[in-house]
Amino acid sequence: MIGSVEIAGGGIAGLTTGLAFARKGWRVRVHEQDNDLRILGAGIYIWENGLRVLDALGVLDPVIAGTIPASRHEKRNHHGGVFSQSCLASDFRLYVPLRETLLTALYDALLDAGGEVAFSSRAVGAAPCGRLEFADGCSVAADLVIGADGINSPIRDSLDLLRWRRPVGQFGYRAMIRREAGDWSNESPEAHCENWNGSRRLLYAPCTPDYAYVQLTSLKGDDLGNAVPIDRAFWRELFPGLCWVIDRIPDDGSGDWFELVRLKDWSKGRVALVGDAASGQPPFLGQGGGCAMMSGFSLAEAIDREGDVNAGIATWKRSERRVIEWVQQVAYWYGQLARLPPGARSAAFKAIELCEPLKRVTLFAGARHDPTAEDYWRFDPDPSFPFVFPLVH
Ligand SMILES: Cc1cc2nc3c(=O)[nH]c(=O)nc-3n(C[C@H](O)[C@H](O)[C@H](O)COP(=O)(O)OP(=O)(O)OC[C@H]3O[C@@H](n4cnc5c(N)ncnc54)[C@H](O)[C@@H]3O)c2cc1C
Repeated sequence: MIGSVEIAGGGIAGLTTGLAFARKGWRVRVHEQDNDLRILGAGIYIWENGLRVLDALGVLDPVIAGTIPASRHEKRNHHGGVFSQSCLASDFRLYVPLRETLLTALYDALLDAGGEVAFSSRAVGAAPCGRLEFADGCSVAADLVIGADGINSPIRDSLDLLRWRRPVGQFGYRAMIRREAGDWSNESPEAHCENWNGSRRLLYAPCTPDYAYVQLTSLKGDDLGNAVPIDRAFWRELFPGLCWVIDRIPDDGSGDWFELVRLKDWSKGRVALVGDAASGQPPFLGQGGGCAMMSGFSLAEAIDREGDVNAGIATWKRSERRVIEWVQQVAYWYGQLARLPPGARSAAFKAIELCEPLKRVTLFAGARHDPTAEDYWRFDPDPSFPFVFPLVH
């Protein structure tokens, strides 16, 4: 079917979903509350699953142009000693472009495909019959309405779809730093490195020849670790070998408390939720955006295949929901390893790293999921993600 879709939210989820429907010939309008794309000064991990979606949507090249492919992932202690590492194969890629590059490429492609983005357009709710309501009192009807309005989603809440939303007790500060010529002697080229000291983590990821992405994480209650702007002296003391990184971290980076979101349902009538509105998760697998992209892409595919909005939404939920909820859980549990004493945590990381089958169904469950595969819709959903673990933080 060819229909119309109104989307609340012009972030990764909204723009990817809009592009996926525009590629199918739908009339697409994305409503973004801000007066421009919300550009954060940060990088974004895009694993194989996200890269395949971008490729299927014809937008991979501009997203990864000039971005350095990651070849290795390392975990180091605060003295710089590597205690766990893995290599990435050529059929299992990871790129970390700037968020700005990703959003701009999606936006440009959406406009080229005939889609529209309305800025300064704030949605406040939706009705199951397929109506999107705005802050100025207006509303529009469409064959499909999508809430891609982020973790605080008013669309989700207006439909009473939230089951629960839990803080996970962890904080992250992210920013871009400039790379300089001498850095090559300090860093492992193409290696993405998590540096640990106690429960604090400093992630360093080269993005382009000129920029690297840095993320600092700490537990709730760690006042020095949670400080924004960052307490430079504190982080320098924790990672004395990385002062060259810490000294370049800007004061205007972004600080976030991580949360996990679980819904009663991913849709109501003709309204569906994608991205953080439905599957907000702590960022320890680098899969929040990947899940958003998979979800938006597969929703368009499912409706296109079924030729009917309601049937398509039902098929989409059957195939995607438990995979993505599983990825959320793994992200939560993986992040909780920060609470272990250092020796136990290193042992846990090493054990996971060395056990390929375990890694496949945990850390890489999202990255290995491929809704772009030709035979994807021919089979019943993969039954291998049935577990539900309690949350314990
Ligand atoms: C520290 C940190 C690091 C992360 N790192 C990674 C990573 O490396 N890889 C990865 O895949 N994911 C990562 N994530 C997760 C990723 O950022 C999110 O999953 C992703 O941005 C979700 O996209 P979204 O479009 O659903 O939400 P958002 O990015 O929040 O976008 C929502 C958009 O909707 C707009 N909006 C909100 N309300 C309304 C409204 N009422 N009306 C109209 N517009 C509205 C907002 O202005 C915004 O533009 C990270 C998250 C954090 C916090």
